[in-house]
Amino acid sequence: MSEIRHNWSKEEILAIYNKPLMELLYDAATIHRLHHNPNTVQVSTLLSIKTGGCSEDCGYCPQAARYHTDVDGNDLMGVQQVKAQAMRAKASGSSRVCMGAAWRNVKDGEEFDQVLEMVRTINKLDMEVCCTLGMITENQAKRLAEAGLYAYNHNLDSSEEYYKEVISTRAFQDRLDTIDNVRKTNVTVCSGGIIGMGEKEEDRAGMLVALSTLNPQPESVPINALVAVEGTPLEEEKPVEIWDMIRMVATTRIVMPETQVRLSAGRTQMSREGQAMCFFAGANSIFAGDKLLTTPNPDVNEDMKMFELLGLNPQKPFTKKVQPPTVEAKDSEFQSLGEKPKWTRPDHTIERNEKSKEKAKALK
Ligand code: SF4
Repeated sequence: MSEIRHNWSKEEILAIYNKPLMELLYDAATIHRLHHNPNTVQVSTLLSIKTGGCSEDCGYCPQAARYHTDVDGNDLMGVQQVKAQAMRAKASGSSRVCMGAAWRNVKDGEEFDQVLEMVRTINKLDMEVCCTLGMITENQAKRLAEAGLYAYNHNLDSSEEYYKEVISTRAFQDRLDTIDNVRKTNVTVCSGGIIGMGEKEEDRAGMLVALSTLNPQPESVPINALVAVEGTPLEEEKPVEIWDMIRMVATTRIVMPETQVRLSAGRTQMSREGQAMCFFAGANSIFAGDKLLTTPNPDVNEDMKMFELLGLNPQKPFTKKVQPPTVEAKDSEFQSLGEKPKWTRPDHTIERNEKSKEKAKALK
């Protein structure tokens, strides 16, 4: 096993990122084999349980209400509807369901109670349950844990410096505080980011510093390639080069050896050969299903064909950590506190976000 370090510097990470490619691949693949079965890849299904109409201004996101995009919003899905989709995902090889809601933060009340019921229901299907619901308090994290949540996703998105160029409605520190709240429970942490938003290599390294210096390091790190959606402030960004993706995956693997590194958004732009190199470089998780919240994703059958071709097997649920028990709502120790937490709203001006907002107003 290689050592797990929590003191990586930006310079060290940049030096890894910029190694000659063959050397980088060899180093990453070697570390990968020390910590994981290289022929096993975890398959997660991402389900948008509440789409669109979000109050935040994330520059990459078509679900932000202030931008004009093709996304049709919908209210929170019902528990039975979610259960049916989870069963379908399980039948097609997924071990995890990740439920995403386009919320700034979780609010105590009926909707959150409904999400808790979804967590209980999916955990009883013997699948790992993950949620990505925005910022959460310690009590909300405890309620999710008690319902049987396996993982909570909250991405750092980019480096602390570049984050300010993408989002103005909540601070980087809020992201860290939410991760901290999750860490006060047994729920595992899933946190990563997006490349291709116009950031520099230093920002990619900066994001990996922020993630790898967390102690413990996140159990899952999704690496997304921006899908530039028309109407969003980042609509004109060029697609990420496969070589950048491979370098990012390999570097993530080296600085976070135990973590499951997930190929997330942007896989439709990647060839099978490109994805194979990412798996060689240490990626060992993918999102399956024809949609990633609102953006396109490869068909599940195509993924299974690729797995067959590469000799990869889907990871069984609860391979890395035992299944958490589910406590029923009536037996719950942690009740709703009706909290109204004051999460930060820096509200500085990001020019391209403002432009997209004005454009959307003009189109209404
Ligand atoms: S990324 Fe999440 S928080 Fe940001 S605008 Fe989209 S749905 Fe809202």
